[in-house]
Amino acid sequence: GLKLNANNVQAHLKHMPLCMAQLQVGLGREKHLKHWGRLQYGLFLKGAGLALEDALTYFERMFVGKDFNKEYSYNFRHMYGKEGKRQNYPPYTCSKIINSNAPNSNEHHGCPYKHSSVQDVSSMLGKMGVAPSQQKPIINQIKSHNYQLACVEHFKAINPTVIVSENNFGNHPNAWFKASVKASG
Ligand code: SF4
Repeated sequence: GLKLNANNVQAHLKHMPLCMAQLQVGLGREKHLKHWGRLQYGLFLKGAGLALEDALTYFERMFVGKDFNKEYSYNFRHMYGKEGKRQNYPPYTCSKIINSNAPNSNEHHGCPYKHSSVQDVSSMLGKMGVAPSQQKPIINQIKSHNYQLACVEHFKAINPTVIVSENNFGNHPNAWFKASVKASG
């Protein structure tokens, strides 16, 4: 079952599409995420069921050496509609992530299929357990600029028994995540 909390985000890495996996990995490595990364990943985790209190606990723990409460807690409370206009911000869709501002070299937001090199995507996929021999359908879709279809091929590579047409996971990172968690029982 799926119940995200401050202690099991890392354990759900294997269920994340590449865009979110690269944010989680970047967060673990750099103990920080820049503005667009915080938004893309924070809203994704919120959409995946992480409560505000857990988000604050988790990101404060991960942002080692930062004055989290002073510098960043407002930012997360804002995402959850507790500050500013108190708007209920939805998690980003694939088309928003693919078509919005591209990441600079020191940022981790965006869609890797669109914004990273094929070589970098291939290496990321390898770390997510997709062997080079399984990557061909994914790489072919990237080369045809079908980024979301490349992402569906990633899902199929790790969940070969799931029927794609019954799971609408090709257009939203949260749908991809949910379908992957569901497929794992
Ligand atoms: Fe993320 Fe969507 Fe790109 Fe997949 S296609 S990596 S879910 S933005």
